[in-house]
Amino acid sequence: MILETFPVGPLACNCTIVGDEETGEAMVVDPGDNIPHILARLMDLRLTLKQIVVTHAHIDHVGGAVKLKRATGAPILLNQNDLPLLKMMDTQAAWLSVPTPEVAEPDQSAEDAMVVGLAAYPATVLHTPGHTQGSICLHFAEQRLLLAGDTLFAGSIGRTDLPGGDGRQILRSLHDRLLTLEDATRVIPGHGPETTIGEERAGNPFLR
Ligand SMILES: [Zn+2]
Repeated sequence: MILETFPVGPLACNCTIVGDEETGEAMVVDPGDNIPHILARLMDLRLTLKQIVVTHAHIDHVGGAVKLKRATGAPILLNQNDLPLLKMMDTQAAWLSVPTPEVAEPDQSAEDAMVVGLAAYPATVLHTPGHTQGSICLHFAEQRLLLAGDTLFAGSIGRTDLPGGDGRQILRSLHDRLLTLEDATRVIPGHGPETTIGEERAGNPFLR
Protein backbone atom coordinates (compact mmCIF):
# COMPACT_ATOMS: atom_id res chain seq x y z
CA MET A 1 0.00 0.00 0.00
CA ILE A 2 1.28 3.43 -0.93
CA LEU A 3 0.16 5.92 1.71
CA GLU A 4 1.24 9.53 1.55
CA THR A 5 -0.16 12.41 3.57
CA PHE A 6 0.94 16.00 3.15
CA PRO A 7 -0.49 19.39 4.12
CA VAL A 8 -2.10 21.54 1.42
CA GLY A 9 -3.31 25.13 1.37
CA PRO A 10 -3.15 27.98 3.90
CA LEU A 11 -4.93 25.95 6.61
CA ALA A 12 -2.62 22.95 6.08
CA CYS A 13 -5.35 20.42 5.39
CA ASN A 14 -3.92 16.90 5.34
CA CYS A 15 -4.35 15.49 1.84
CA THR A 16 -3.81 11.74 1.51
CA ILE A 17 -2.92 9.58 -1.47
CA VAL A 18 -3.68 5.87 -1.17
CA GLY A 19 -2.16 3.82 -3.96
CA ASP A 20 -1.92 0.21 -5.06
CA GLU A 21 1.51 -0.51 -6.52
CA GLU A 22 0.15 -3.69 -8.19
CA THR A 23 -2.62 -2.09 -10.23
CA GLY A 24 -1.21 1.44 -10.37
CA GLU A 25 -4.51 2.83 -9.10
CA ALA A 26 -4.99 5.56 -6.50
CA MET A 27 -7.55 7.42 -4.48
CA VAL A 28 -7.04 10.93 -3.10
CA VAL A 29 -8.73 12.14 0.06
CA ASP A 30 -9.25 15.87 0.72
CA PRO A 31 -7.53 17.62 -2.19
CA GLY A 32 -8.11 21.03 -0.63
CA ASP A 33 -5.43 22.90 -2.59
CA ASN A 34 -1.99 22.50 -4.26
CA ILE A 35 -3.40 20.39 -7.10
CA PRO A 36 -0.15 20.64 -9.13
CA HIS A 37 1.71 19.03 -6.23
CA ILE A 38 -0.89 16.25 -5.90
CA LEU A 39 -0.68 15.56 -9.64
CA ALA A 40 3.12 15.54 -9.49
CA ARG A 41 3.11 13.02 -6.63
CA LEU A 42 0.66 10.77 -8.52
CA MET A 43 2.92 10.93 -11.56
CA ASP A 44 6.10 10.24 -9.56
CA LEU A 45 4.41 7.26 -7.92
CA ARG A 46 3.12 6.09 -11.36
CA LEU A 47 -0.45 6.07 -10.13
CA THR A 48 -3.69 6.68 -12.02
CA LEU A 49 -6.33 8.43 -9.97
CA LYS A 50 -9.59 6.48 -9.75
CA GLN A 51 -11.50 8.25 -6.99
CA ILE A 52 -11.59 11.52 -5.05
CA VAL A 53 -13.17 11.38 -1.59
CA VAL A 54 -13.83 14.54 0.40
CA THR A 55 -14.40 14.15 4.15
CA HIS A 56 -16.54 17.31 4.35
CA ALA A 57 -17.33 20.43 2.33
CA HIS A 58 -15.13 22.96 4.10
CA ILE A 59 -13.11 24.97 1.59
CA ASP A 60 -9.74 23.77 2.87
CA HIS A 61 -10.73 20.12 2.20
CA VAL A 62 -12.85 20.41 -0.96
CA GLY A 63 -11.32 23.49 -2.64
CA GLY A 64 -9.23 21.65 -5.25
CA ALA A 65 -11.54 18.70 -5.92
CA VAL A 66 -13.00 20.00 -9.19
CA LYS A 67 -9.55 20.94 -10.51
CA LEU A 68 -8.28 17.46 -9.66
CA LYS A 69 -11.31 15.84 -11.27
CA ARG A 70 -10.80 17.89 -14.40
CA ALA A 71 -7.14 16.84 -14.61
CA THR A 72 -7.78 13.13 -14.04
CA GLY A 73 -11.43 12.32 -14.79
CA ALA A 74 -11.81 10.74 -11.35
CA PRO A 75 -15.25 11.07 -9.73
CA ILE A 76 -15.80 13.06 -6.52
CA LEU A 77 -17.55 11.52 -3.51
CA LEU A 78 -18.92 13.73 -0.74
CA ASN A 79 -21.74 13.10 1.70
CA GLN A 80 -24.95 14.74 0.53
CA ASN A 81 -25.63 16.33 3.92
CA ASP A 82 -22.81 18.78 3.13
CA LEU A 83 -24.40 20.09 -0.09
CA PRO A 84 -25.66 23.25 1.68
CA LEU A 85 -22.05 23.99 2.75
CA LEU A 86 -20.79 23.36 -0.76
CA LYS A 87 -23.27 25.95 -2.00
CA MET A 88 -21.86 28.49 0.50
CA MET A 89 -18.39 28.46 -1.08
CA ASP A 90 -18.42 32.27 -1.57
CA THR A 91 -19.05 32.71 2.15
CA GLN A 92 -16.39 30.17 3.05
CA ALA A 93 -13.85 31.89 0.78
CA ALA A 94 -14.67 35.21 2.46
CA TRP A 95 -13.88 33.68 5.89
CA LEU A 96 -10.34 33.06 4.65
CA SER A 97 -10.10 36.08 2.32
CA VAL A 98 -9.24 33.80 -0.60
CA PRO A 99 -10.78 33.61 -4.09
CA THR A 100 -13.78 31.27 -4.39
CA PRO A 101 -12.67 27.93 -5.88
CA GLU A 102 -14.83 26.29 -8.49
CA VAL A 103 -17.10 23.69 -6.93
CA ALA A 104 -19.52 21.18 -8.42
CA GLU A 105 -22.02 18.70 -7.04
CA PRO A 106 -20.30 15.42 -6.19
CA ASP A 107 -20.67 12.52 -8.60
CA GLN A 108 -21.89 10.35 -5.75
CA SER A 109 -22.86 10.80 -2.11
CA ALA A 110 -20.47 9.08 0.30
CA GLU A 111 -23.05 7.38 2.50
CA ASP A 112 -22.59 5.59 5.81
CA ALA A 113 -21.37 1.98 5.39
CA MET A 114 -20.52 2.50 1.73
CA VAL A 115 -17.27 0.88 0.66
CA VAL A 116 -14.96 3.23 -1.21
CA GLY A 117 -11.32 3.22 -2.25
CA LEU A 118 -9.35 0.64 -4.21
CA ALA A 119 -10.16 -3.04 -4.73
CA ALA A 120 -7.09 -4.09 -2.72
CA TYR A 121 -7.57 -1.40 -0.06
CA PRO A 122 -11.27 -0.85 0.55
CA ALA A 123 -12.42 1.69 3.13
CA THR A 124 -15.78 1.85 4.87
CA VAL A 125 -17.46 5.24 5.11
CA LEU A 126 -18.40 6.19 8.67
CA HIS A 127 -20.87 9.08 8.69
CA THR A 128 -19.78 11.12 11.70
CA PRO A 129 -21.82 14.34 11.73
CA GLY A 130 -21.03 17.16 14.15
CA HIS A 131 -18.16 19.18 12.67
CA THR A 132 -20.45 19.43 9.65
CA GLN A 133 -23.64 17.53 8.86
CA GLY A 134 -21.95 15.57 6.10
CA SER A 135 -18.64 14.81 7.81
CA ILE A 136 -17.31 11.32 7.18
CA CYS A 137 -14.32 9.25 8.27
CA LEU A 138 -12.78 6.48 6.16
CA HIS A 139 -11.96 3.24 7.94
CA PHE A 140 -9.47 0.84 6.37
CA ALA A 141 -10.24 -2.10 8.68
CA GLU A 142 -7.54 -4.41 7.33
CA GLN A 143 -4.84 -1.78 7.77
CA ARG A 144 -6.26 -0.51 11.07
CA LEU A 145 -6.21 2.97 9.59
CA LEU A 146 -8.68 5.82 9.94
CA LEU A 147 -8.74 8.98 7.87
CA ALA A 148 -10.68 11.13 10.32
CA GLY A 149 -11.25 14.41 8.48
CA ASP A 150 -11.97 17.17 10.99
CA THR A 151 -13.89 14.93 13.41
CA LEU A 152 -10.92 13.84 15.55
CA PHE A 153 -7.48 15.42 15.99
CA ALA A 154 -4.49 14.50 18.14
CA GLY A 155 -5.56 15.90 21.51
CA SER A 156 -8.60 17.72 20.15
CA ILE A 157 -11.82 17.40 18.15
CA GLY A 158 -13.37 19.35 15.29
CA ARG A 159 -14.85 22.77 15.95
CA THR A 160 -18.63 22.95 15.93
CA ASP A 161 -19.21 26.71 15.84
CA LEU A 162 -19.42 27.01 12.04
CA PRO A 163 -22.67 26.55 10.08
CA GLY A 164 -23.80 22.92 10.25
CA GLY A 165 -21.76 22.26 13.39
CA ASP A 166 -23.29 20.59 16.45
CA GLY A 167 -21.30 19.99 19.66
CA ARG A 168 -23.49 17.20 21.07
CA GLN A 169 -23.65 15.46 17.75
CA ILE A 170 -19.86 15.35 17.26
CA LEU A 171 -19.46 13.79 20.72
CA ARG A 172 -22.06 11.17 19.84
CA SER A 173 -20.23 10.45 16.58
CA LEU A 174 -16.90 10.19 18.40
CA HIS A 175 -18.19 7.87 21.11
CA ASP A 176 -20.45 5.71 18.95
CA ARG A 177 -18.38 5.41 15.78
CA LEU A 178 -14.70 6.15 16.50
CA LEU A 179 -14.08 5.06 20.10
CA THR A 180 -15.56 1.70 19.17
CA LEU A 181 -12.53 1.07 16.93
CA GLU A 182 -9.49 -0.84 18.19
CA ASP A 183 -6.91 1.06 20.22
CA ALA A 184 -4.22 0.17 17.67
CA THR A 185 -6.08 2.00 14.91
CA ARG A 186 -3.79 4.61 13.38
CA VAL A 187 -5.57 7.93 12.89
CA ILE A 188 -4.66 10.49 10.23
CA PRO A 189 -6.66 13.60 11.07
CA GLY A 190 -7.69 16.41 8.72
CA HIS A 191 -5.03 18.68 10.22
CA GLY A 192 -1.90 18.16 12.30
CA PRO A 193 -0.01 15.06 13.41
CA GLU A 194 -1.29 11.52 13.36
CA THR A 195 -2.36 9.64 16.46
CA THR A 196 -4.12 6.42 17.43
CA ILE A 197 -7.56 5.63 18.82
CA GLY A 198 -5.87 4.30 21.97
CA GLU A 199 -3.91 7.50 22.58
CA GLU A 200 -7.00 9.62 22.10
CA ARG A 201 -9.15 7.35 24.27
CA ALA A 202 -6.56 7.72 27.06
CA GLY A 203 -5.54 11.34 26.69
CA ASN A 204 -7.93 13.46 24.65
CA PRO A 205 -9.57 15.92 27.09
CA PHE A 206 -12.66 16.26 24.86
CA LEU A 207 -13.43 12.56 25.12
CA ARG A 208 -13.61 12.24 28.91
ZN1 LIG B 1 -13.45 21.45 8.47
